This record gives sequence, C-alpha cells and structure tokens, in this order.
Amino acid sequence: MNYKNILFITGSFIIGLGIGKYLKYKIFESNFQTALWKKEPALIICNSSAVKDNRVKDATLFWEKYNHKVSLIHRDETDTICGNKNKIKGMILLKGNEGNIPNDSLGTTNRLSTLNLSYNDNKIGEMLFASIEIYNEYIDLDLLLEHELGHAFGYSHLEEVNHVMYPEFNFMGDKFYLNKKE
Ligand SMILES: [Zn+2]
Repeated sequence: MNYKNILFITGSFIIGLGIGKYLKYKIFESNFQTALWKKEPALIICNSSAVKDNRVKDATLFWEKYNHKVSLIHRDETDTICGNKNKIKGMILLKGNEGNIPNDSLGTTNRLSTLNLSYNDNKIGEMLFASIEIYNEYIDLDLLLEHELGHAFGYSHLEEVNHVMYPEFNFMGDKFYLNKKE
C-alpha cells in the first residue's frame, strides 16, 4: 500500500458536498480557524497509542512556534481519562487503533467546541475537547501528528500545497499560515 496517496479526513473535512471549487475554497479560507482554546489544553496519551515521547514533543514544539501550547503531556496509564465515556473538558486525547479512523485515512480528530466547526460564518468558537486517533503503523510519519494536532487546536483544512493543514498527506508540508493573503 502506498500510504502517500491516501487521503485522510477528519470530522471537519468538507470536500465532497458537491459544491464548486471556488465556493469550497472560500469556505476553507473563512472557516480555517474555527475554534480556540481559552485555557491551554492537556495532551493525554492513551494506552492504545504507540507514540513515543519524542514524537509528541516534536509535534508540540511545532505548534508552540504559533502560540498553541499544551499545559502538560500525560500518559494515562491507569486509563482514568481515556477510559472515561464523558468528554472531559480541557483535554486533547491521543489514541491508537480504536476503530474510529475513516477508510483511506491515516488519522482523524474529533472535536467538541461551542460552535459548529464546519459552517460558522467567520465566528470563532471555544474548543472544549478533542480526540485524535492515528494508526500506530503511521504514528511516526512526518507531520501527521502535527496535522492532527492542528485540528485539535481548532484549525480546519487549507488547500495550500505544503501547508501543514493541507488535506492530503502527499501534498502536505511544514508550512503554517492563516491564509494566503497574510
Ligand atoms: Zn485533516
């Protein structure tokens, strides 16, 4: 399997609704930053994830450059947070293969915020909770965790090649900016 050609999508991914490319692009641009954390969230590594400490550290350092920080990184070895059925506010969970990743995707991020994350008319909501799931086989892929963390920090996709939030892995890069006009 050539993973570089796999499209990965998230709950925020809106291609495929049958709308024109121009309209689609406008939606991406105006709704790129859809929510913000009021307080720095905690990043919780669940037992199902095989991620190594240095991979997590690198991904968080990437986002620190853009003022998105986590308050702490914690391995939930007792499963008290990850095993909780409630979405505990203020948490970003990082999970491994738990069966929630859509077909043809490498990872996914489910988010809870005060506003609908796809159509919000330029309003920015408050992030409350996020749950990232990345296949353990792909956890060390360059920028994949950074991309999913971007969703957890409130960003959607941006159709700019080499941007970290580009929706396809093979055209994604390490650039980050709010939109091409800035
Ligand atoms: Zn994505």
